[in-house]
Amino acid sequence: MKAKCYLSGPVSGRPSDMNAAQFAAAAIMAKDAFDVVNPTANISPDEEWAPAMIQCLQDLMGCEAILLLPGWIDSAGAKIERDFAERIGMRILKYEDLNPYLNECECDETLVYSGDYEACVMCGKVRKIETSKKAV
Ligand SMILES: [Zn+2]
Repeated sequence: MKAKCYLSGPVSGRPSDMNAAQFAAAAIMAKDAFDVVNPTANISPDEEWAPAMIQCLQDLMGCEAILLLPGWIDSAGAKIERDFAERIGMRILKYEDLNPYLNECECDETLVYSGDYEACVMCGKVRKIETSKKAV
C-alpha cells in the first residue's frame, strides 16, 4: 500500500481555477509514489478560511507525508500545515525531492489546464494562459 501524501499550497485569495490547475498537476506528479490527498477536491472554493483550515488539518492527519507546492511559503494555511507535519514527524517533501531535473523544466509538454490557468506537472508552477496561446 502506498503512503498517503497531502498536497499543501497557497489557496486563499487566488482564483479557484488557478488552485485547481496547480493541485491537479501536483496530484499527477505524486501519484506514482503516493496515494494523494488533494484538499482542494474536498472543500468548496466558497468555504470560509477557518472551517476550511479545520477540514484541511483533518485530511492532513490521515497522511504520512506532505508535499509542499510552489508558493507554500507565502500561504498562512500551508505554513500551519507544514509546521503541524514537522512537529508530528511526518515526511516533508518539495517538488525538487520528486523531480531531480526541476531546474531544467521548460514547462512545455506537461501542463494541466483549468479555466484560464495552466500548471506544470514536472515543476508545479502555475500561470495564467496567455490570450494568444488560447486562441490557437
Ligand atoms: Zn515546469
